[in-house]
Amino acid sequence: MEFFGHVIDGAEVKSASGETFASVDPYTREPWAEVALGGAGEVDRAVTAARRAFDEGPWPRLSRAERGRLLHRLADLIVADTDRLALADTRDMGKPIAQSRGKDVPRAADNFRFFADHARLTPAEALPMDSGHHAYTRYDPVGVAAAIAPWNFPLMLETWKIAPALAWGNTVVLKPAEDTPASATILARLALEAGLPPGVLNVVHGYGPGSAGQALTEHPGIDRITFTGESATGRVISAAAAKHLVPVSLELGGKGANAVFADADLGNAVDWSLKAIFTNAGQVCLAGSRLYVQRPVFEEFLARFTAGAEAMRLGDPKQESTDLGPLASETHYRKVRGYVETVAGEGGTVHSGGLGDGWFVRPTIVTGMPATGRHQREEIFGPVVTVTPFDAEDEVVALMNGTRYGLNAMLFTENLSRAHRVSARLRAGTVWVNCFFIRDLRAPFGGVGDSGVGREGGTFSREFFTEPKAVVMQIS
Ligand code: NDP
Repeated sequence: MEFFGHVIDGAEVKSASGETFASVDPYTREPWAEVALGGAGEVDRAVTAARRAFDEGPWPRLSRAERGRLLHRLADLIVADTDRLALADTRDMGKPIAQSRGKDVPRAADNFRFFADHARLTPAEALPMDSGHHAYTRYDPVGVAAAIAPWNFPLMLETWKIAPALAWGNTVVLKPAEDTPASATILARLALEAGLPPGVLNVVHGYGPGSAGQALTEHPGIDRITFTGESATGRVISAAAAKHLVPVSLELGGKGANAVFADADLGNAVDWSLKAIFTNAGQVCLAGSRLYVQRPVFEEFLARFTAGAEAMRLGDPKQESTDLGPLASETHYRKVRGYVETVAGEGGTVHSGGLGDGWFVRPTIVTGMPATGRHQREEIFGPVVTVTPFDAEDEVVALMNGTRYGLNAMLFTENLSRAHRVSARLRAGTVWVNCFFIRDLRAPFGGVGDSGVGREGGTFSREFFTEPKAVVMQIS
């Protein structure tokens, strides 16, 4: 089995205890990698190394152009190593290789390129004052950023945090999810090869509660926590951060609503709605898991949507032709299976799909589920969608907003006024009109309510990973 160690202070190391854990390939259901199991000791070493690299090392003192050059070199190495990185995520969590190779790895490289350029090119404010003074702003790095990531888009989400933190001159300790450790170690190896100084990017593997994750969030030596994961974990991390008054950025769960109006381009709406719920087997915070279709087109939409779902190819995620892999782990499969098995009990009907072999769940379409049913309220995080008819615009806005989550929403309509009107009324961090998952990395990304606290992306990441400072000078 391949071995993946921690990367601390410029070296790949085992745990002091020698303990390891296995990463299981969800398709074969066999371990494929052995991983160092870290705890408080490894976290302390990593934070100490990151602190030293920040306080005494060259990283925060390099020009932005020089840091940018090194981050672009890292992006080049990521692209050159695409196959290895893609296979690591695919074996760790069952994501189809076409997705990890074609989307996740390129986006990881783009994260570094974008934030390297953004840090170099974004202007700060100059504020001429009437009083004969002049004020301007500086955005200085804060120190050590702790990054804690989930397993659904391992490399893509880890780099979404690491790239802005590094570009703005901070050092980082990353704790990847226990189910997806491999690509993080490969990334840290590449960062050293690219010439990032020791201690600038550290990776510690381990579990969350009572283990490396908890130790990292409670460590007094960190200055920021950026976390993506479940809302319940976000609450625990928020409480840990409060002890040291460390700012947190929380990107949490979602229950994405998707409204198809009768005037929509139906083919376009069907295509995007399929992608919105079945990409990555629905293990997507942004998944369009509540689909509302206006009554005049409900039957036609459902027929075309069902045909699309039934045409999806389930299979070995290492095969280029596979659309849908297994769920990421046995624990997660059991959770999603629980939802599939309770559809009737909650008042709904499995219109299409259901359980597959192994840890597979087929693209599952549920109709007739009341708004009070768990499947309409809770994040299932699997390939399960409820489809519900609606009549009026006000009605669907109320349904869409009727959740404690507020990460994203989609709407499909050819009526421009309606598109703007409804977008404004939706309680969500992102609204996609006639599309899904299209990102501009300058845009704010984050959620309302239980979907998160704060925004990342472009200048929003700058606000989080720097200390803005006002400098006021007398001119005359
Ligand atoms: P979890 O919250 O279970 O875990 C996320 C990370 O936190 C893992 O690395 C985990 O370690 C760690 N962790 C768990 N408990 C603690 C703790 N007490 N202290 C410190 N770290 C801890 O989320 P999942 O990995 O299950 O990811 C799925 C969730 O992520 C879904 O709710 C999804 O919606 C959300 N998500 C949100 C996104 C967004 O941008 N809003 C994007 C992608 C996903 P370990 O793996 O060892 O448990």
